Formats: sequence, structure tokens, C-alpha cells
Amino acid sequence: MEPQPSKKIAIIGGGAAGFFTALTLKEKNPQTQIALFEKRNDWLTKVKISGGGRCNVTHFCFDPEELSKKYPRGAKELRAAFYKWQPSDMIEWFSDRNISLKNEADGRMFPITDDSQTIIDCFMEEAEGSQINLRKGFGIENFFLEEAGSFSLKIEDSETESFDALCLTTGSLKGSLLEHSIKKLGHSIEPLAPSLFAFNVNDKRLKSLAGISVPSAEVWIDSKHSLQSGPLLITHRGMSGPAILKLSAWEARNLQNKGYHFDFYVNWLADETEGSIKEQFDRNRDSQGKKTIKNTPLLKLPKRLWESLVEYSKISAETTWAQLSKDLEQTLINEIVSGHYKAQGKTTNKDEFVTCGGVHRKDINFKTMESKYVPNLFFAGECIDIDGITGGFNFQAAWTTGRLAGTAMAQI
Ligand SMILES: Cc1cc2nc3c(=O)[nH]c(=O)nc-3n(C[C@H](O)[C@H](O)[C@H](O)COP(=O)(O)OP(=O)(O)OC[C@H]3O[C@@H](n4cnc5c(N)ncnc54)[C@H](O)[C@@H]3O)c2cc1C
Repeated sequence: MEPQPSKKIAIIGGGAAGFFTALTLKEKNPQTQIALFEKRNDWLTKVKISGGGRCNVTHFCFDPEELSKKYPRGAKELRAAFYKWQPSDMIEWFSDRNISLKNEADGRMFPITDDSQTIIDCFMEEAEGSQINLRKGFGIENFFLEEAGSFSLKIEDSETESFDALCLTTGSLKGSLLEHSIKKLGHSIEPLAPSLFAFNVNDKRLKSLAGISVPSAEVWIDSKHSLQSGPLLITHRGMSGPAILKLSAWEARNLQNKGYHFDFYVNWLADETEGSIKEQFDRNRDSQGKKTIKNTPLLKLPKRLWESLVEYSKISAETTWAQLSKDLEQTLINEIVSGHYKAQGKTTNKDEFVTCGGVHRKDINFKTMESKYVPNLFFAGECIDIDGITGGFNFQAAWTTGRLAGTAMAQI
């Protein structure tokens, strides 16, 4: 029998998903001729700036069930995918290439060098060593399905080239030239919306408190169904920190619909209950009745935040614990456990932001990442309507979907 000619496969987008797809494909089928296209003059630009330049590669969580809960969009599809490729596989993959990762107390994992260049150097070395045709500075304008089932790619300022299979790893489809080609082949695209942003809040309670944080807050909008918890940071513009970023991710579409002007609520002491705070108030009344409330902050609440909440509750600076009326006590407790704030806009988090939206998940077979409508057309990474909260989950989604796509394309 004649040997089959090796397949020509194009991967469009030289970011995390593009590289991992290409490297997986080469590992699984070294004969494949792979062209990796990148429209910019640099590879892996987001990896470079990610995690404040340290690259939060993945998360210290090895249970697919738990891991999938970190994805406001795509949890169900990723849960099954994580059984095939998850953070432990990624740690091992890097370790086989002499790159050690470390985890921080909150589970985020970084290269021990604390330098994203370590990850870039690893990918570049691997790609150059495996004869992947690296074509940077080549943007793909559009692509067509040819009658024979292959794809022709129109390369910007250049000719059209034909490939047996195609994987789209373009990242966010915002303003992408390829949106039209994707839709023309029957796929739908979920509208794009920013995720992971801080809330702008102009509120006298927060004046001069920028830089203050609490370790365990709860935040929610509308109803407690949306509640998210974690550290909360007061910024010059309003509020940020993990609790706020998580809420922004889970409610990304809702908040976009509200034009980023919305009411939300904060519990500054998530580890306490209204009852336990009341008990503490009673104890203070008994044991330090002569002390002023303003000068005796509740445990764990930063002093200046406490003072601000006391003042906002209209409790005078001279009022002592013994003098605290039941009404004012309740006002202050409400301020602590369910303070009402108004957001007037958003600020993108500089360390990490993602776009939700992209190619509809229902159009993709998540066992292979192949289109359900067009054979040999694959998708991986952020171009799909998948996104995670902060903590390394977005890169993990890129590694996992890239792994599945690369493995499946090796069988073509
Ligand atoms: C500032 C910042 C920090 C972040 N930090 C983290 C972090 O620490 N941990 C984490 O998990 N996530 C982080 N994220 C999110 C993470 O970077 C993305 O989820 C991830 O990069 C997605 O990978 P991707 O390969 O799908 O897309 P991208 O990394 O966006 O790569 C897509 C590539 O395709 C190219 N491209 C697009 N269209 C074309 C075309 N038509 N032709 C050719 N090339 C094209 C683009 O130029 C780009 O290089 C961060 C994001 C930002 C913005």
C-alpha cells in the first residue's frame, strides 16, 4: 500500500492555546506538517504579560469536578475534558521539560523563576525543535471550505494556501476578521463581554481608604444567588480583589446589560454572622462600656474602615458601647453584613482580564474540539465561549482544549 502523504495542518493564533495545540499534535504525530500563524510580530504576548509578568500557569486543584466550578461559562464541557488533561498533567508536562512550578497559598501556580519568559522559552524551544513552521507577522484574513473538504486560508498581504485541517486559536474574537468565516460555516458566536473587572464606586464610606483590604468578604447583586466570597480590596476607584473579580465574571452578562451601573451589597466580615456580631457587641457593652465605639473596632475589621462605617451609621465619635441604642446597633450591623453600594462603571484588572463569549460551545464536540458541522475544523482556547475566574484557570482551559484538539488532529 502507498504510504499516506503527511497532512498539512494550520493553527491560527500563536498564543497559549495555539502553541499547546501545535506541540501536542507534533508529539502525537511527528509526520504532520504544521504551520502556526501569528498576526503579530511576537509570539505568546499574553503569556508574557500574564500574572503581572509571572504567568499564573495553572491552579493547584486536581479534581475535575472542583476545577470545573471555576468557570462561569463552560463548566460542564470542561469537567469531562479535565478528566483527559488537567493541572497535574500540565505540571508533569513542564516538569519533563525541567520547569518546576510552585503554588501559592491561594492555589495559583507559577514557574519557580516567577518569570513568564520561562514558559515562553520552553514553548519556543519545543516548537523550534519539532520543525513546526512558525510564521509570525502572518495574519489570516479569512478561510473557506473547499469542495474536497480542505481549507483555503487567505493570508493578509499574501497568497491563499490550502490545508487539510484547521485549528482556530485566535483568542478573543473581538474585532476578529475570522468571525465571518466561522459564522458562514454554520457556527454561532456568543456576544462578547468583558469579564474580571473591578467596580467603580464613588462613595463617602470609601473615601481615603484606598489600599485597605479585608481577608474574607462576601459580595452580591440583586439576590444572594450571585454571592461570591474572598478577599476584597478598596481601591482609588472603588472595589477590587478576588471577591469582586469573581462576581464580575459570574455576572458578566448581567452587568453588561445593566451598562455597569448597578447596586450591590458587601458583607465585610464573611466569617461572622449577624448573631455572632451581636454577641460581640453585647460583650463590648459589658466589658468595655465606657470606651467609645469608634475607637474599639470589631476584630478583623481594619480600623479606618470601622471608623468609616460607624460614622456612616450616624453614631457619633463620642458614643460609648454602653450608650449604643438598639436602633443604631442594628444600623451598624447592617452596614457590616450587607452594606449597600452603587457601582458606576468598571475598571479592567491590570493583572488578568478575559472576554466571555466566542464560538458557541454547542457547536463543538468537546471530546475532540472539532466543529460539529465541519469535519477537520477545530477550536481551542479563548475563541470559544469559555472563561474562568482568576487563578490560572484561563490558561488551564487553553492547555486542556489545546491538548484535546492536538490529540484529535493527530488522527486525521
Ligand atoms: C493582562 C492579562 C493577564 C492575564 N494573566 C493570566 C494568568 O496569569 N493566568 C491565566 O490563567 N490567565 C491569564 N490571562 C488570561 C489568558 O491570558 C488568556 O485566557 C489566554 O491567553 C488565552 O489563550 P489563547 O491562546 O486562547 O488566546 P491568546 O493568548 O489571546 O492568543 C491568541 C493569538 O492569536 C493571534 N491572532 C488572533 N487573530 C489572528 C489571525 N486572524 N491571524 C493570526 N493570528 C491571530 C493573536 O494575536 C494572539 O497572539 C490574562 C489575560 C490578560 C489580558
